[in-house]
Amino acid sequence: MKLNKVIKIIFANVFIALFLIGCNTDPASTEEVIDEEKPASEEGALEVITSFTLLEDMATEIGGDYINVYNLVPTGTDPHEYSPLPDDIKAVSNADMLLYNGLNLEGGDDGWFAKIIESTDQDWANAYQVTEGVEPEYIQSDDGREEEINPHSFLDPVVGITMAENTRDAFIKADPDNEDFYQENAEKYIDTLKEMDEQYKTKINEIPEEDRILVTSERAYQYMAKRYGLKEGFIWMIDTEENGTPEQITSLINFIEENEPPVLFVETNVDRRPMETVSSESGVEIFGELYSDEIGEPGEEGDTYLKYLQYNIDVIYEGLTSKE
Ligand SMILES: [Zn+2]
Repeated sequence: MKLNKVIKIIFANVFIALFLIGCNTDPASTEEVIDEEKPASEEGALEVITSFTLLEDMATEIGGDYINVYNLVPTGTDPHEYSPLPDDIKAVSNADMLLYNGLNLEGGDDGWFAKIIESTDQDWANAYQVTEGVEPEYIQSDDGREEEINPHSFLDPVVGITMAENTRDAFIKADPDNEDFYQENAEKYIDTLKEMDEQYKTKINEIPEEDRILVTSERAYQYMAKRYGLKEGFIWMIDTEENGTPEQITSLINFIEENEPPVLFVETNVDRRPMETVSSESGVEIFGELYSDEIGEPGEEGDTYLKYLQYNIDVIYEGLTSKE
């Protein structure tokens, strides 16, 4: 017993000595530690994680300087299936709160977002689903046997209002001291979304009824199409399944022959080739690109959620009235 104790003390002293030597001979690491302890002007800001670009933008609009945002899935990467990076894990562990879309966008209960929370020190109590309260729409799997929730509710500006309200409420819950700021900022943002809804209604009502047909690659526009009365044509149900099989292409060509849409559209984030095949086989042109699973890169058209919604309605309106 006694000998063990002595050995332990010797080891402890050697360890402390080595640690001190390490500190003295490595000034770089000492500086880093000091830097990390001084977050300067952002001190006290809420550390917020967002799951994809659209939420990153919305959080920044509503949270302003009171929050620091770390976004997980960047533009150009699929939010349905994502492999978190080591930096992501670190940021999630240290965050005050997280905002995610839900409705299966981040892969659902067993998806990448659930895994990142469960594999870090983070807690579900700090994670807020911004689509809370949104009535889900369903899509069928390829074989038509299973039903699953369509995650793309954010393409509908009215859902955008709910998302903004939930984001505001999450900030107030996590940071009640700055409630007035969040309320005021969110109000302005929500007013703009209400105007956007009016614009969607007006523009779609101006399209001749028989031309209110929206053909895209993925069935991402279901919520928006249902709200404003557009008929949907698509090649595949969801990006995570097989995209552009001969059966899917034939099925869309049949839809086009039956419904005669004025033009076709293709999303910025998908492989254009299946829609190009549909276009050349049906003789109906691809009018332009629409935003779907991501906002544009900074500096591009559609680089905020509001601009993304504006861009989509403009292109849809121009396309569907171009053949008059
Ligand atoms: Zn998608």
